[in-house]
Amino acid sequence: MNFIIQNVLIPVESGYTTVDVQVVDGKIAAIAPQIDAIAPIIDGKNKLLLPGFFNAHTHSSEMWQRGIMSVLPLELWLAELYDFAPLDPEQVYLSALGTAVETLLSGGTSVVDHLVLIPGLELETIATAVRAYREVGIRAFIAPLIQDESITAGIPSGESAQIHEPYFRSTAATLEIIEEAVRQFHRPEEGVNILVAPTGIQLCSDALFTGCIELSNRYNLCRHSHLLETKAQEKLALEKYGCTAVEHLWHIGFLGDRTSLAHCVWLTDADIAILAQTQSTVVHNPLSNLRLGSGIAPILKYLQAGVNVTFGCDGASSNDSQDLLEAIKIGSILHNVTDLDYQHWITPRQSVEMASLGGATGLNLADKLGSLTVGKQADLVLYDLTNLSLLPRTDPIGLLVLGRPTNVVDHVWVNGKQIVADGNVTTINVDNLRQELFNRSQWETSRKSQTAAQLELHYRTVMGL
Ligand SMILES: [Zn+2]
Repeated sequence: MNFIIQNVLIPVESGYTTVDVQVVDGKIAAIAPQIDAIAPIIDGKNKLLLPGFFNAHTHSSEMWQRGIMSVLPLELWLAELYDFAPLDPEQVYLSALGTAVETLLSGGTSVVDHLVLIPGLELETIATAVRAYREVGIRAFIAPLIQDESITAGIPSGESAQIHEPYFRSTAATLEIIEEAVRQFHRPEEGVNILVAPTGIQLCSDALFTGCIELSNRYNLCRHSHLLETKAQEKLALEKYGCTAVEHLWHIGFLGDRTSLAHCVWLTDADIAILAQTQSTVVHNPLSNLRLGSGIAPILKYLQAGVNVTFGCDGASSNDSQDLLEAIKIGSILHNVTDLDYQHWITPRQSVEMASLGGATGLNLADKLGSLTVGKQADLVLYDLTNLSLLPRTDPIGLLVLGRPTNVVDHVWVNGKQIVADGNVTTINVDNLRQELFNRSQWETSRKSQTAAQLELHYRTVMGL
């Protein structure tokens, strides 16, 4: 659809300027003080236009367990999560819708869903998420979460001799599922992308990583993985490889300019240099890292080393929301306490660029997305600057990033198609979604995870607790 956003504020180097923005065939066709053309007109007065942000790492089906997960570190938390993971594709559908809606209404136009697959229904799970994201119209990067080692393998052995049960599905069978998913669902031009996404070094063999690299090369797919989220994973990598996880992934060829890595909390300076050299992207998930006590990722060091960094919410059971503006705020100001030199701190303008162009770069799409540039796809968000939470009038981007913006997203377009109007998602019925989420759940206060209980003693021993 073709249209013009008139009299809208956009950021420029020296501050802000008021322009008209013309969208033709899904792309930004012109940005100029005044554009005369016959096209539907959107009133941009007292509104700020920004490129859509990327929710560059999440797990949509975790939405079913938000608010109830025990206060535990990742390794035990994961055991609890999997004990209660939803096994019904309809739940996957609803939580994908919910994740998309919350992302859109906090400034995101793209979502990277590191999608937890229902055992035995793997392709159906992927198909269901694809259906949900297509219905909403958000740009979707579906990264089916795969592993080929069982959960106990994710905890370092320490002094003990650990024997792990084999994973229930072979590495080859897992790779076949991903290849079939690529054939059936990978349609970048329609806004649906499949990524290869081994969960991380903690639960994946080299054969799985290598298989993913081959698929990535054959089908031109981006690569996604968790990386060194916890201290335990740092220890595990040394046990498993005799070198750091980053060095190992570099040796086997997993890193590169199409690779985005969630968390990156426990990296050495040499590791950081490798990420910079390979042009890999770090996805910063500050709320999840705080919630699970994983640590503070050295984001200022990444930026100084020239590593591309963007933001993710991570799954809603370790956050426990999908508010991208909240993740951007915390993920920016958190680092002020890690470096006395305030000249290294992240400014609100930098945060916006990391969330937009940084996200596009991590998915190898910087030439198509991530900035207000003529010729790029029109993934756009219009913020209402008359909203109470953005008043009184000072610096719009400062208010958006550092404030606590509430219901400020007015209109959203993805590929030039409007999917949010006047603060409401127009493509699906959000009232129905609320009703379904309500009806399929109940108030709960406590649960007992058997697997977490089984792993706890070993975890405490090996971590010296
Ligand atoms: Zn994650």
